[in-house]
Amino acid sequence: MEEYVAAAERVVRSGRYINGPETHALEHELTHVLGARYCVGVSTGLDALRLILRGWMELGMLRAGDEVVVPANTFIATFLAVTDCGLTAVAADVDETTACLDLSRLPLSPLTRVVVAVHLYGRPCLTPVESERLKSQGLLVLEDAAQAIGAVSDGRKVGTLGDAAAVSFYPAKNIGAFGDAGAVATDSHQLAKTVRMMANYGSVEKYRHEICGLNCRLDELQAALLRVKLPTLEEVTSRRRETAALYDRLITNPEVTRPGLSEGTVWHQYVIRHQRRDNLREHLKANGIGTEIHYPIPCHLQRCYAGHPLLKLPPGGLPVAERLAREILSLPIADVTPGEAAEVARLINEFSPS
Ligand SMILES: *Cc1c(COP(=O)(O)O)cnc(C)c1O
Repeated sequence: MEEYVAAAERVVRSGRYINGPETHALEHELTHVLGARYCVGVSTGLDALRLILRGWMELGMLRAGDEVVVPANTFIATFLAVTDCGLTAVAADVDETTACLDLSRLPLSPLTRVVVAVHLYGRPCLTPVESERLKSQGLLVLEDAAQAIGAVSDGRKVGTLGDAAAVSFYPAKNIGAFGDAGAVATDSHQLAKTVRMMANYGSVEKYRHEICGLNCRLDELQAALLRVKLPTLEEVTSRRRETAALYDRLITNPEVTRPGLSEGTVWHQYVIRHQRRDNLREHLKANGIGTEIHYPIPCHLQRCYAGHPLLKLPPGGLPVAERLAREILSLPIADVTPGEAAEVARLINEFSPS
């Protein structure tokens, strides 16, 4: 706690609150953590996604009306970023076991330009080989790594698999700020430069505006606080992995589908499935265990997208995403002691819907 107070005090006393040394230092530190050549601190994870897409549009790599494939089971931000840029979001179904994009059934069309790889629940949703295969088809791969900072896929850090990645430091993420914050990671100098400019009113030099930009900057206070938090990533990740391993070993109820352990996952969520999910949730709640559902309504069924001209569904619909939404349940995963995990597992094992 004292370290955070000291960092905050340093910024308050400095009088420099935007575009200062803390942000620059954090960006540098992030390049090491994420393994990307360039990192740009921005205001939110949503803005990180928007800025990447707008950056590609600015660079002529994408045009309004182009199609962007997005998994239906994600946080709404992934869809909002796409449609906000005037791009068409093509909702894609997900894989039953991983809940991530089903790469074998991507709804590609001649208009598809981008595939958004959402590393949902902290699980890498594609391998380096799969990412290269998409790129070799002329597609841009945008990683939504909001839930997956620190995750690894076949030895490669998440955030370096695609052409660019968005990270979120929303307080509930594995590395959370004390408010909103996010970052863009990419190996492309051109994109990094454009994103930085776009996030700063389209300006590099004060009062000279090269492009019509936005104000999506990270502030010095959050950057300074994140610099204290970032070094805890390994510890945070290993604690979550221990809890996941305990759940995996101790949950034996045959009606429960566990997510399965996979090496590079950082367990933003530990999500089980049960056909009587709501009853199981009630049972846990009655015993003092709070759970969540990520996410109860797939994005394409949200009211904001009813009849939306920029939302496109594949001909076969999205049966897996819709079924998962009825069966998934996220167990406590942050700051869970082994004893607490054992108790959650015991309550799940004793549950049998009448
Ligand atoms: C949290 C999240 C975002 C958005 O991040 P914010 O910082 O809240 O804007 C985007 N995508 C996914 C998958 C997320 O979980």
